[in-house]
Amino acid sequence: MSQDPSQDTAAAIIRREEAVCARNYAPLPVVLVRAAGVHVWDERGQQYLDMMSAYSAVSHGHGHPRLVAALTEQARRVAVVSRAFHSDRLAPFLERACRMTGMDKALPMNTGAEAVETALKAARKWAYEVKGVAEDDAEIIACEGNFHGRTLGAVALSTEAQYREGFGPFMPGVRIVPYADSDALERAITPNTAAFLVEPIQGEAGIRVPPPGYLARCAEICRRHRVLLLVDEVQSGLGRTGRLLACEHENVVPDGLILGKALGGGLLPVSLFLARREIMDVFRPGDHGSTFGGSPLASAVGLAALETLEAERLVERSAELGEHLLAGLRAIDSPLIREVRGKGLWCGVDFDPARISARTVAERLLARGILTKETHETVIRFAPPLIIERAQIDWALERIRDTVRECEALVRTSKEIP
Ligand SMILES: *Cc1c(COP(=O)(O)O)cnc(C)c1O
Repeated sequence: MSQDPSQDTAAAIIRREEAVCARNYAPLPVVLVRAAGVHVWDERGQQYLDMMSAYSAVSHGHGHPRLVAALTEQARRVAVVSRAFHSDRLAPFLERACRMTGMDKALPMNTGAEAVETALKAARKWAYEVKGVAEDDAEIIACEGNFHGRTLGAVALSTEAQYREGFGPFMPGVRIVPYADSDALERAITPNTAAFLVEPIQGEAGIRVPPPGYLARCAEICRRHRVLLLVDEVQSGLGRTGRLLACEHENVVPDGLILGKALGGGLLPVSLFLARREIMDVFRPGDHGSTFGGSPLASAVGLAALETLEAERLVERSAELGEHLLAGLRAIDSPLIREVRGKGLWCGVDFDPARISARTVAERLLARGILTKETHETVIRFAPPLIIERAQIDWALERIRDTVRECEALVRTSKEIP
């Protein structure tokens, strides 16, 4: 415990939380009490630049006035009625989402994982009812290193030992192929394949960007074999990569699309599974649902989140400023850094685990006022709110550079034993 009594306040808060909260996360030792725009503050009033954006859930920035207004106005009018009744808010939201993404219909859920489950259910039912696969034979192909959430269905697709260990038995009918290898996809397809589920860029795997042409080739293979292409854009979507959807970089229009995170404007969990009519029409009343999914409150916020992306040209900002951020990160020359990758305002810096752990880097960045988190043991993610200003990126780059130098010194004095 620190000598500084204000430090003890944070320590006390953390202790209290740890006593009662399941230890399914290992948060950085900072207690956030307030946020606005790209900044957050801890209990001592210390300011941080948020370069994490809650895994892209806060792409619009914290407490966006337009989104907070949509939330509070709708909360006062009517927030939750369940889908047992109609509301006047759902259609405008889904119309907008379909128009912007080129999809025909949408099914509203809350979290990303639920929308993934929805996509899997849709694909299986489509395989039986439309493609003619025999009962219980449908297969889903997913990629090595994927992240599709934490539900049992999503975990059944995972290749991450820790995400699976202790949670079996798993849903059958899953085939795994290496990521960024379209030939492997084609080899894995059988007459029973319902769908190929893929992230255009693998976020949790460490911002893994496949070679150009990969997704377009997957789309062509899926079309030829009558396999649904389901694209999980929960993290990559809604401007994060400099296009509204990451699959636009490859001019791919998927059969089904999964959105979440930023769709809730940083205020609420709002997710959608969107698809072509033929796929969505396999759902009949009673087949699938969610108590809160598509509530008036979620719909009002989701609509405002989509409107704000356009009104504030956040997608274009992400493209422009993302290049600036990526160039700045690539300019940091250090033996600790193995690779810098990314697209739009979504960058991963891959540190050499033989020299330093990404966790140590994240802790040092925190001390310099930059909030981010390691993903796996080696990658630091930089994904600021899309409203970030160029000068704020420069401010961050300076501190990131200083942090890397500090880490080099750490390694030289071998204080860090990996
Ligand atoms: C975060 C994420 C999910 C899961 O979303 P939750 O809201 O945490 O359930 C699914 N897919 C991808 C690609 C994600 O990044």
